[in-house]
Amino acid sequence: MARDDVAGAATLEEVTPSPYEVAQHQFRRAARAMNLDKGLCVLLSEPMNEIIVNFPVVMDDGSIRLFRGYRIQHNNVRGPFKGGIRFHPSVSLDEIKALASWMTWKCAVVNIPFGGAKGGIKMDPREFSSKEVERITRRFTYALRNYIGPEVDIPAPDVNTNAQIMAWMMDTYLIASKGDQPGSHCVTGKPVEIGGSVGRDTATGRGCVMTLEAWYEFNGRPLGDLGKLTFSVQGFGNVGSAAAVLLAEKGAKLVAVNDHTGTLVNANGIDASRLLEHVRTKGRGGIRGFAEADEATREEFWGASVDVLIPAALENQITRENVDLIKAKIIVEGANGPITPFAEDQLLARGVTILPDTIANAGGVTVSYFEWIQNKNSEIWRLDHVLSELEYHIKSNFRLVASLAQKRKLDLRTAAYVVALERIAAAYQQRGIFP
Ligand code: NAD
Repeated sequence: MARDDVAGAATLEEVTPSPYEVAQHQFRRAARAMNLDKGLCVLLSEPMNEIIVNFPVVMDDGSIRLFRGYRIQHNNVRGPFKGGIRFHPSVSLDEIKALASWMTWKCAVVNIPFGGAKGGIKMDPREFSSKEVERITRRFTYALRNYIGPEVDIPAPDVNTNAQIMAWMMDTYLIASKGDQPGSHCVTGKPVEIGGSVGRDTATGRGCVMTLEAWYEFNGRPLGDLGKLTFSVQGFGNVGSAAAVLLAEKGAKLVAVNDHTGTLVNANGIDASRLLEHVRTKGRGGIRGFAEADEATREEFWGASVDVLIPAALENQITRENVDLIKAKIIVEGANGPITPFAEDQLLARGVTILPDTIANAGGVTVSYFEWIQNKNSEIWRLDHVLSELEYHIKSNFRLVASLAQKRKLDLRTAAYVVALERIAAAYQQRGIFP
């Protein structure tokens, strides 16, 4: 595609699109819907910086392994780059570019003063000891030290990374930065004991539930009706488990779960808290072996009779292959980019409501922003303050998105992009393009 044609084609033939192709397709569709300035289309269609580092790490047995890590900084016109760090075998330049651009739109939709970035290492952390993962994390952080920083680019957890890994990143960054870029707000999603925010660990899942509530409120439906829902969750990690536990607390019934170890179903309901306990202990990170549900196939997971489906694992999970199986009326995107454009068009044509990742999973970065503020100002917020601020950012911006969708007859994803792009365009309008 020619560079000046980024506002062009609005459809994408499904030849297994890569995450970046999906992201580009969504962007172009929104740019066309709002008639975005051509220059801005070109400017926003590629990340500002693409940093690739290859770094050696000594393994426990004394051998040396070379790892490839990425940090993609998509856009910072509204504030410092912000985005998670992923450790996964599927990590690639293309995938991280997509995730970085989604962060730009997400921060703009929930109106927090950050731009978008993402990072990752191509590796399966399960193949390494804890000491090896620590050395890999520290050496990666050291390799990135000149590109990140509390006012420049702030990493956070994502797939297969957690508060402990953020603690190692912070420690390494602060040692390597020689005091010229001080501050624990160089990383968010840290343990609470070293500056993490209360409520950050469950914030993304909580944001999924708040977005669902906001959709009910927008449609004038009583929130008590959430208790009548049945739902399924793909991915029972940070996002999926928190969303499941919190939605179950509202009375909704979890009936199917899928993760990298298998599928569980129980039409009478799966206790999300007990499943989480299993994943953290006997399951060693996976749902397999949980005795209070039956094992099933992946097809049975996608075909489960549920009102709500929460994909909370990886990109490109709902595709041409399985879209016809899906019975849910509402999909809440806990994961980034879980639906391909082909599948999305099918679902929208069937009247399925898709609550898009750009707002449904923005709870994590929103509480990361609160963590950053707390660290900068040496404050400690109470949980009720964190949750009410989170609810404000998610629900007030969701209302904007849903009203725009209604007014301009757009799907919610496109409307969310339009809200984000209008804010970004305003920032460029005011700042201008250097020089
Ligand atoms: P996680 O590592 O805590 O959990 C990932 C889950 O996905 C695990 O349950 C794993 O078993 C499952 N999974 C992995 N591969 C799978 C496969 N092939 N099939 C089925 N399940 C599979 O990660 P997370 O932080 O919960 O992130 C999940 C998704 O949410 C990602 O798309 C991530 O980008 C997105 N997200 C995370 C946050 C956050 O705060 N952690 C914020 C916004 C968005």
